[in-house]
Amino acid sequence: MIPKSHPRYHSLLQREKIIEGLNKGIVSQSGLIAQGRGEAFDYILGEKTHEFALKAEKAAVAALLLAKHPVISVNGNAAALAGKELCELAKILDAKVEVNIFYFTKERIERIKEYLEKFDCEVLAACDAELKGLESARRIVDSRGILIADTVLVPLEDGDRCEILKKHGKKVIAIDLNPLSRTARMADITIVDNIVRAVPNMIELAKELKGKNRNELEQILAEYDNKKILHDSIVAIRDYLSEMASKILQT
Ligand code: ATP
Ligand code: MG
Repeated sequence: MIPKSHPRYHSLLQREKIIEGLNKGIVSQSGLIAQGRGEAFDYILGEKTHEFALKAEKAAVAALLLAKHPVISVNGNAAALAGKELCELAKILDAKVEVNIFYFTKERIERIKEYLEKFDCEVLAACDAELKGLESARRIVDSRGILIADTVLVPLEDGDRCEILKKHGKKVIAIDLNPLSRTARMADITIVDNIVRAVPNMIELAKELKGKNRNELEQILAEYDNKKILHDSIVAIRDYLSEMASKILQT
């Protein structure tokens, strides 16, 4: 048990969830590395949701509400860190949840599916269709899900996969703490925030925006500029580091 008073409580709690996920066969070994990279970026963002992230989260919810076939793609880390919340978000948005992993084994797919189903969620994982043009196992998708999706939310995603989704004409929404990653740069909407903060924010936004008409949702998207969001996130890192550097001299 990590004491709540520990200065790195939230970060340690996430590590615990990832390790628990590894022991349950949900998270892959490389998932540990991905978490480490995410943590490093979270640290230099001050471990909080910035204004640019909230804007992206709002635009993402609007895009998912406007979509004909919205799908939330879930990998091992996403399931371990925010499985329950992703299922709740899918329900509010009327979106499908599909398991999609980089290090493909049928067993891990089933484990993640079973884990998510505990949250009273219908989970797609048929692996019965292919996205052409991708070598890795991630080309394998569900014919009722990503194959026919027009908008896909991809938390903690690899760049190759994001690229292929774009090539297949899908609108891609990424959650990625690294604004310099290929995924972050390629996505239509990039949420530079920790998944454990982003998804609860999106749940609240989804409840709020569900009552809006299509015109209002389209207006949110029309005003959204992903290049500006990426720019602002990199500037936020620079400013945070400058502030920290100054503080060192003051103490
Ligand atoms: P790319 O292929 O897009 O350039 P990458 O190879 O650097 O990315 P991957 O391991 O493929 O990284 O994907 C993991 C991504 O998820 C990383 O960019 C990491 O910053 C991000 N990430 C890890 N943990 C979290 C988290 N808890 N919340 C949000 N993002 C996270
Ligand atoms: Mg990668």
